[in-house]
Amino acid sequence: MADTKYLDWPFFEPRHKELAQSLDAWAAQHIHDDHGSDVDSACRTLVAQLGAAGWLTHAVGENIDTRAICLIRETLARHSGLADFAFAMQGLGSGAISLFGSEAHRAHYLPKVARGEAIAAFALSEPEAGSDVAAMQCAARLDGDHYVLDGEKTWISNGGIADFYVVFARTGESPGSRGISAFIVDADSPGFDIAERIEVIAPHPLARLRFTGCRVPAANLLGAAGQGFKAAMATLDVFRTSVAAASLGFARRAMDEALARAASRKMFGKTLADFQLTQAKLAQMATGIDAAALLTYRAAWQRDRGERVTREAAMAKLTATETAQQVIDAALQMFGGLGVVSGQPVEKLYREIRALRIYEGATEVQQLIIARELLADVGVKPQG
Ligand SMILES: Cc1cc2nc3c(=O)[nH]c(=O)nc-3n(C[C@H](O)[C@H](O)[C@H](O)COP(=O)(O)OP(=O)(O)OC[C@H]3O[C@@H](n4cnc5c(N)ncnc54)[C@H](O)[C@@H]3O)c2cc1C
Repeated sequence: MADTKYLDWPFFEPRHKELAQSLDAWAAQHIHDDHGSDVDSACRTLVAQLGAAGWLTHAVGENIDTRAICLIRETLARHSGLADFAFAMQGLGSGAISLFGSEAHRAHYLPKVARGEAIAAFALSEPEAGSDVAAMQCAARLDGDHYVLDGEKTWISNGGIADFYVVFARTGESPGSRGISAFIVDADSPGFDIAERIEVIAPHPLARLRFTGCRVPAANLLGAAGQGFKAAMATLDVFRTSVAAASLGFARRAMDEALARAASRKMFGKTLADFQLTQAKLAQMATGIDAAALLTYRAAWQRDRGERVTREAAMAKLTATETAQQVIDAALQMFGGLGVVSGQPVEKLYREIRALRIYEGATEVQQLIIARELLADVGVKPQG
């Protein structure tokens, strides 16, 4: 493990340091960043590996240790973006079951998710409802002892390989966000299909889903009807800080690459590290990473104390994703032409980080959340 001094920060307990170090050693042995061109098969293998080794148990269940999932994501992201993705999606995809599922739901799905034997997905976004979640149109109506779903979901991670999807659909108890419910939809449900596979700059399984008179047992409703928005937000609340942590992993890897490059690249009769312009860049990168890490682990620690972290998680995600983008860009620049060659670590990081500034609430959405919280403290509720 490269720089591990942060593991001694007061946010952590001894078990956290031990977890991060043992995962790092495991990942160095078992996770290779070259996953080949079959991303579905690579992802299935990673889920199975992470499950067999016991790491997925940290992503599943009612009492998530936020610092643990953050350290796991940070560590995996440093080794492989796809490994981090495989871990994160098992947690995000099963989160609403952990938090709102009945005993029967939990007993049926969670052990398989934790063992890496069932792949989970979280289906909230739609073509016309991304940042504006409450604009969703996918609908579910009760028909006897089944719900019938009609509509679409898009940008769904693990779409095409998931064994089940937690799907949010409008059931109409009230207008807007209060008329949404959450359902478990097994991948073999009649009327469910993959409308389109989507290829992105950092390849991972992603799809648009289609529901055409898709029948799911009424017993697959998670929580009460109309509680779906609450379930989605509660799930994202747990995992948003972990997106910041994954960004930190990418940024730390870029920092390691930049340091190695600066120390070895010869030019003008010196090495790149001899130039003050390089030193300024390295200093700025390291400072940005520490600032982002402090915000990330402050949010995780505060959540583990049972406190509300809406503002802190938004600050962490905003800062860590934006900082990681800058750090990776600076690292790539130090590699010159080599930096843009396909397959180079900095080139892969450059592609990996981009989507994190968009999903689970784009940067602008985090800014709005922070501002709303600040204004609420002084009794102001912004219009719109
Ligand atoms: C790789 C990837 C994986 C994903 N995985 C999942 C998944 O597993 N499940 C799922 O449900 N969704 C997933 N998403 C969807 C993701 O959450 C949405 O893309 C995101 O919420 C943004 O929605 P949108 O793409 O419709 O963009 P839009 O909502 O159209 O927003 C476009 C841009 O507008 C800006 N913006 C947004 N709000 C404001 C505002 N109030 N003021 C000013 N500017 C604003 C932001 O810059 C934003 O990027 C994934 C997306 C990606 C890229």
